[in-house]
Amino acid sequence: MTATTTELSYRLEQKRNVGEFPGPKSRELSARRDAVVAGGVASSVPVYIADGDGGIIKDVDGNSFIDLGSGIAVTSVGASAPAVVAAVQEAVQHFTHTCFMVTPYEGYIAVAEKLNELTPGDHEKRSVLFNSGAEAVENAIKIARKATGRNAIVAFDHAYHGRTNLTMALTAKAMPYKSGFGPFASDIYRMPMSYPFREENPEITGTEAAKRAILAIEKQIGGTEVAAIIIEPIQGEGGFIVPAEGFLPTLAAWAKENGVVFIADEVQAGFCRTGKWFAVDHEGVVPDLITMAKGIAGGMPLSAVTGRAELLNAVHGGGLGGTYGGNPVACAAALAAIETMEQFDLNARATRIGEQIQGRMNKLAEELSVIGDVRGRGAMQAIELVVAGSKEPNAALTKAIADYCLAQGVIILTCGTYGNVIRLLPPLTIGEELLGDALDVLEAAIRANA
Ligand SMILES: *Cc1c(COP(=O)(O)O)cnc(C)c1O
Repeated sequence: MTATTTELSYRLEQKRNVGEFPGPKSRELSARRDAVVAGGVASSVPVYIADGDGGIIKDVDGNSFIDLGSGIAVTSVGASAPAVVAAVQEAVQHFTHTCFMVTPYEGYIAVAEKLNELTPGDHEKRSVLFNSGAEAVENAIKIARKATGRNAIVAFDHAYHGRTNLTMALTAKAMPYKSGFGPFASDIYRMPMSYPFREENPEITGTEAAKRAILAIEKQIGGTEVAAIIIEPIQGEGGFIVPAEGFLPTLAAWAKENGVVFIADEVQAGFCRTGKWFAVDHEGVVPDLITMAKGIAGGMPLSAVTGRAELLNAVHGGGLGGTYGGNPVACAAALAAIETMEQFDLNARATRIGEQIQGRMNKLAEELSVIGDVRGRGAMQAIELVVAGSKEPNAALTKAIADYCLAQGVIILTCGTYGNVIRLLPPLTIGEELLGDALDVLEAAIRANA
């Protein structure tokens, strides 16, 4: 028997309960914020958080919201998973930091051992730890360029890889991520993605879509010039786009034939989110390098690059690192978060969450023609909204639905190149009943605005 939700215990009551909000304490914090915090940082919800557990986050005025965002796929084990809390408390009593590049410690090694074991492929692997997803991506590119002696990097339409200079260049969307922030890094080439719902030819297979990209790579860059292909196996910010079956394996096979490093950016889709440890596992793809962050450490900042030993070891000593990379407290949190994923079989839980969401939303899609597409894997599900009976993106409806849900105490995130996708990323520890309540609200929100 695998673990069920009844074996999870919660500190906070798992129930939605909101009055008028933002309440007085949130309003006061909002005024203080406006006076001191940079305007370039935007928050999608106007309340300030005091507590979080399981599927609930509670604000400073006592309102309880159902969390279908997990702080963007980070708190997969919950925002205060008991094992993570205990591991952090234990670690922090001994040392908060020494810098692994100066005086190393065991936690970093233990995380590397775990990552080498969990990531796909039984080849010899090595890992290196950083702080953020963007930093992991930057370093994967550094490693690929150093190991191949080549410069060109291939990224895809709708891609999101971060907000630093190199990762902005890899990211596809101008507003809000790139506009006014150039010049960008060179030698980055953008190729067509497999986006089944928006293909001009709906019959195109994943393999054909991959061949379309490969042909463009060969014509525009030349296979022998390419250091790496970087791709999100399920695109996150770009709209939870699941490429057609065969797309990823065909690209990976071409990369192998041409000495190109295949990098899977699993920052959002990794760590049980899709019902497998990594999203590439659904098609048996074995990347040369994997970038990880978000769900890895129960909310503590940690990221990693894991991959073929000969690639990671091609970099000279001192070529990779950073003051805080692999912080000991974050490493302790990661080990505890991974243990929680194993103990409660959160892969199985993510699969069931996906079935629950798809069951409800597919049924609704039959009835309402504003739902263009329901897609995703496991607890990474999207609803793409369109103008009724067409494929025209409906961003206004998407925003209205998110606003309605929030007013009812359900936090949902939106995404997509056209801003017309609702993305559902609940903590994997959310109870079935609580998720059912949230889906009732979402269904009412779609009906009320359709
Ligand atoms: C969020 C994200 C990043 C960037 O991670 P940060 O920790 O925000 O720097 C990179 N790639 C993907 C796929 C992401 O979803």
